[in-house]
Amino acid sequence: MDIFCKIINGEIPSFTVYEDDVVKVFLDVNPDVNGHMLIVPKKHILDIYDMDNDTLLHIFKITKEMDKLLKEKLHTEGLTLVQNNGLLQEVKHFHLHLKPHYSEKEELLPVEDVYKKLTK
Ligand SMILES: [Zn+2]
Repeated sequence: MDIFCKIINGEIPSFTVYEDDVVKVFLDVNPDVNGHMLIVPKKHILDIYDMDNDTLLHIFKITKEMDKLLKEKLHTEGLTLVQNNGLLQEVKHFHLHLKPHYSEKEELLPVEDVYKKLTK
C-alpha cells in the first residue's frame, strides 16, 4: 500500500488541513515553502489519466478554497501547482502539490507551527 493510502486510512498520522468524502488535504512534511500542501483523492487513483472528471473538478474547487485559507492565515500572494504523472511520479497515488508564494523570502518553520497557524 502506498503512503497516501496509509495517510488516508489513518495508519500514518498527518497534519490534515481539510477533508471531505472525496479528498484529504494535508501539509507536506518536507515542504519547499511554509504552507506546502498536498491534495489527495481518498479513493486510490493512480494519476490524472486514471481520474474521472468530477473528482478532478472537485480537487480544483478545493484548491481554490485552500488558496483562500493560505491567503487569510499565512498572507500568501499566490500559488504554484505541481502534479506529476508517469515517469516523474514518485508516489503512485494522485497528488497535487500546492506551493504558496510570499512577497518576501520566508524562513522554513517547523510543519507543526505552520499547521497551528492554518488551523487556529
Ligand atoms: Zn493509494
